Amino acid sequence: MDKIPEKLIDLIEKSDSLVLLSHKNSDGDSLGSVIALERVLSKIGKHIYVPAPVVFPQRYSFMHKYSNGWGNVPDKIDALLAVDCSTADRIDWGDFEKPDNVPFANIDHHDGNNNFGDINWVNPSAPAAGTMVYKLIRSLDAPIDKETASSLYVAIMTDTGRFSFNNTNSDALKIAGELVEFGAEPKFLTTNIYFNFSEGYLRNIGIALFNSRSFHRGRILFLTLDRAAMLSFSTSPEDSEGIIDFAMSVRNVDVAALFKEIAPNNIRVSFRSRRGINIAKVAEYFDGGGHPNAAGCTILSNLVMAQTAVLENIRKLLGYR
Ligand code: AMP
Ligand code: MN
Ligand code: MN
Repeated sequence: MDKIPEKLIDLIEKSDSLVLLSHKNSDGDSLGSVIALERVLSKIGKHIYVPAPVVFPQRYSFMHKYSNGWGNVPDKIDALLAVDCSTADRIDWGDFEKPDNVPFANIDHHDGNNNFGDINWVNPSAPAAGTMVYKLIRSLDAPIDKETASSLYVAIMTDTGRFSFNNTNSDALKIAGELVEFGAEPKFLTTNIYFNFSEGYLRNIGIALFNSRSFHRGRILFLTLDRAAMLSFSTSPEDSEGIIDFAMSVRNVDVAALFKEIAPNNIRVSFRSRRGINIAKVAEYFDGGGHPNAAGCTILSNLVMAQTAVLENIRKLLGYR
């Protein structure tokens, strides 16, 4: 649904205090979209609160100063706005508890969104939540400053894999162009996010690539960040966003998975697939979710069992026996 629901505009216009919510393990799209909304709604006189995340993922830390609404939320709130969350379970509430009887709006672009809000604006053809937020901001006739434009540029750039995934449509490119006119600097933002590795990230790339295993003549590729290696190289499993893309750069790979051993018996899995292969089905089997070509889940078992179960599921999905 491309059209912004009237009810959403009405809710924003009549609300004085609003809480903005991003998803757990926040990424560029949810962070950028929430920061942009925070800035713009504050500028038009609203009181805006963002309960989480108080600590930004390192690669987005330069965006921290674009925002000032993070942290304490007062008791009286007029509206809740979740952005880039496919289900209510995905929402990062931080220390904030969901209040009852407060109108809840859901702004998202995930195909599997279950319309958990009182007002749902779900557009699976949007390349990022950031393009939806951009349209919302334009329809409110609110000012877009350089920092707002930069935040939305980050949202769209990261969710489209630097304008390369198959969600890269003319909207993504057109809006990115408009954001550049509003002051976003592609070189600065790209450098901060993609060419700003920590040494730990570099080592994690090494661990993941060293632990690559392929199946079915290279159609399926697994990368693994195991705890033993991460402990011995003093790296963190959080410092790994984008490593899965190495697997998808390998010739003939149709499905890739990155297994991160967060703790013993706690494996976070990122999936990627090519057009036509709906890998979200596998993620959903393990109570996760996502998009047809990019999904994730957490499996509470040891690494070997998680990999065996995932492989079995991917085989079924691809019709291999
Ligand atoms: P990632 O591999 O972490 O970049 O995640 C890829 C996509 O899968 C993102 O669009 C997320 O929205 C989705 N996703 C990741 N983990 C989960 C999860 N545990 N539950 C539902 N969706 C997820
Ligand atoms: Mn996201
Ligand atoms: Mn997104």
